[in-house]
Formats: sequence, C-alpha cells, structure tokens
Amino acid sequence: SKRLLTKATDLAKHVIDIKLQKGMTAVDATIGNGNDTLELAKRVGSNGKVYGFDIQKVAIDSSKELLEKNNLLDRVELICDSHERISEYINDKIDLAIFNLGYLPSGDHSIITKPNTTLKGIESVLYSLKENGILIVVVYYGHSGGKEEKIAVEKYLNKLDQRKFTVMKMDFINQINNPPFIFCIEKI
Ligand code: SAM
Repeated sequence: SKRLLTKATDLAKHVIDIKLQKGMTAVDATIGNGNDTLELAKRVGSNGKVYGFDIQKVAIDSSKELLEKNNLLDRVELICDSHERISEYINDKIDLAIFNLGYLPSGDHSIITKPNTTLKGIESVLYSLKENGILIVVVYYGHSGGKEEKIAVEKYLNKLDQRKFTVMKMDFINQINNPPFIFCIEKI
C-alpha cells in the first residue's frame, strides 16, 4: 500500500480529496506554478469555480498554460493581485481554500509571502468560508522571513474561538531542517 504521511503538500491533497466535490467553490490564494489550482479545478467540475491569486504575472501565465493544456480553464479565474484583497473579487461563499506560503521554488526566491498580507488573506477567507468549509495553510519556514510568518500565523490561529473554528496542526516533529507542515481550519 501507499505511504500517506510523506510531506505537507501530500497531506493537503488528502484533505482536498476528502472535502472537495463537484460544483463547489475553491480558492488557491498562492497560485505559484499552478499545481494546487489544477487539483482544485479537476475536483470542482465544470459547474464548480476556482479563484486563484498570485502577485507575480509569471505565476498567472504559467498556470493559465497548465490549465489550458488540461482543458480546465473554463472554471478558473486567475487574478494577479494580493490575496489580502480576496473579498474584492469573490462574493460567493467558499468551500475550500489553500495558502502555500513562502517563495516560488522555480522563481525569484526574494518574493515571499509576508505576515501582514498573509494574515489579512487568511482572515478574509475565514470570514467567507461556508459552514464546514476548510482552510489549509501549508507553512514553509526554512527561508529567511519564514519563521516570523509561521509565528504570526500560529499566534493568529491560536486565538480563533473554538466555538467557531476547529484549528488543527499537522507537523513532522521528528524531522530535521524545518519541514513544511499544515494548519487545517474548519468553520463550524
Ligand atoms: N502552490 C504553488 C505551487 O504548487 O507551485 C506554490 C506557491 S509558492 C510557495 C508561493 C506563491 O505565493 C508565489 O508564487 C508568490 O508569488 C505568491 N505570493 C506571495 N505573496 C502573495 C500575496 N500577497 N498574494 C498572492 N500571492 C502571493
């Protein structure tokens, strides 16, 4: 049988697999190379909707190409703006959203997600989540600036009212070199 607990991005995919159904609305708050956007687009089907955000045009362009190649662009809206302004673009309630923090591995490593904008984006998504909606945050903190962001996000999520949100952390506690981990938040 296959290993389940390999890396954070795989854990995120397991959660997406369980949650996301045809017709649902999903958000990729950090498109990057579009790998997550592609997975979301496959699962919501032609009646579903995926909104993707990235501040880098190169991320939007390469993801557009990837989605076109897979015939999935029809249900996806790619937005070249910061995820802190999500609410200016989305009126629908959200079933599932994902943030992949850090830098684009194939791109400019100096362009990273930042605590302030990340928190605004997360707050905005949490507000727009449907009942039982899910937010996944994949946290990378090995790079410079990553630790500050990890601390800020954890501090913010720590304080969410447990009557309104269930917050879970899935971390690899016996691995070296700061492996990425995930926060999973479910709106009650
Ligand atoms: N999920 C992606 C993939 O599968 O390739 C990797 C995402 S990468 C770790 C993080 C991305 O967040 C970068 O492409 C970066 O441009 C983007 N980003 C940084 N700050 C942002 C912001 N404020 N709003 C939206 N995207 C942002």
